[in-house]
Formats: sequence, C-alpha cells, structure tokens
Amino acid sequence: MLCVDALYTRISRPDPNSESKSYNDHTLSKNTIYCCTAFEEFCKMFPSWSYELGRFTIVNTISYDGTTQTPISHCPFCGKKIKYKLKKV
Ligand SMILES: [Zn+2]
Repeated sequence: MLCVDALYTRISRPDPNSESKSYNDHTLSKNTIYCCTAFEEFCKMFPSWSYELGRFTIVNTISYDGTTQTPISHCPFCGKKIKYKLKKV
C-alpha cells in the first residue's frame, strides 16, 4: 500500500447535555485497508480512531483528567501517509 485510505462518515447527533448543541460522530469505514500489519494490529489493540475528531490519533499525554490524543497524518510504524476521506451519507 502506498498510503492508508481512511474513509469515514460523519453523523451529527444532538448533544445529550444541551438541546441547542450537537456534536459530530465520525465512523471509520470497516473497509479501510491499512498500510502495514503493525498499524492494523495496533488499531485492534488500542482505540486509535477518534470518533470526535475523525482522525487516527496517538495518545500524547495521560493525566488524571484523561488522555490527550494527537491526530496523526502518517503511519507511526512505516511512515506512509494517511488520507482521510469524508464519505457523504
Ligand atoms: Zn504502516
């Protein structure tokens, strides 16, 4: 694979905490083909996909408040580019 084609859909949902707000839920396509097995295995073991951001992420910092996730644009294992594509629903 030359790159990862990360196809995802975006659904807007009402915010359960506020009637006037909504948030976006990004779902990664199950047909995503990974650039290498290392990344694929990594994604199976750790929740790398951020539904909030619509991006693969790595955990940047871990604190008492939770974790900070940083979006990535390249595979952390082999360095191939990750192409994010929003699929219209
Ligand atoms: Zn890779």
